[in-house]
Amino acid sequence: MISKLKEWVEESNNIVFFGGAGVSTESGIPDFRSKDGLYNMKYKFPPETMVSRTFFSTNTEDFFDFYREKILHLSAKPNITHTKLFELETKGKLKAIVTQNIDGLHTLAGNKNVYELHGSVKRNYCMSCNKFYEVEHIANSKGVPKCECGGIVKPDVVLFEEGLDNAIMENSIKAISEADILIIGGTSLNVYPAAGLINYYGGKKLVLINKAPTGFDSKANLVFNESLGNIFSQL
Ligand code: ZN
Repeated sequence: MISKLKEWVEESNNIVFFGGAGVSTESGIPDFRSKDGLYNMKYKFPPETMVSRTFFSTNTEDFFDFYREKILHLSAKPNITHTKLFELETKGKLKAIVTQNIDGLHTLAGNKNVYELHGSVKRNYCMSCNKFYEVEHIANSKGVPKCECGGIVKPDVVLFEEGLDNAIMENSIKAISEADILIIGGTSLNVYPAAGLINYYGGKKLVLINKAPTGFDSKANLVFNESLGNIFSQL
């Protein structure tokens, strides 16, 4: 199995990686939807509520308290999967990464062509004047982070009730539909828009790496029900 994957990777110069929360759990960032993840924690409001646009607008200070405490993981470092994906891009083998994660770890690892479907905590903009702020501005502020103009500085992440960026979606679809190998890692593919996106892949080298089986295992050409680190450390 792993030898087949190595052979495919060796021969290809058009690999696309589609990643979910499982890519980042090995960097110590909890999976939103796992049994012990964010969605099962006790908080004053349900986490789904606290990461919604409505909550952001109506309970802005609570949103940022929660955001700083549970969403930002600024000490997290890229793990072996991020590092190997950077190597593959450097070698001209990997064409794109499409990720559901907002931690920015792929770009921190050095990858250039990363489509962040849900945005990135690393980008933050004033809602009034659009001035850019580093994530430290959010992390180090108390209450609602403000711009020097007085506006609220909002993270460039897609909250519940907000739409995805059209250009990022189109680029992701293009990369996936043109890919020779599509490697899907660390996602159960239950979450919109993951399942829809992978339907654009028409090749015969669909690789699924996820600790738990997914509903898509039967569609994949290679399935590894183990950790991403195990697989990528062998590539
Ligand atoms: Zn401003």
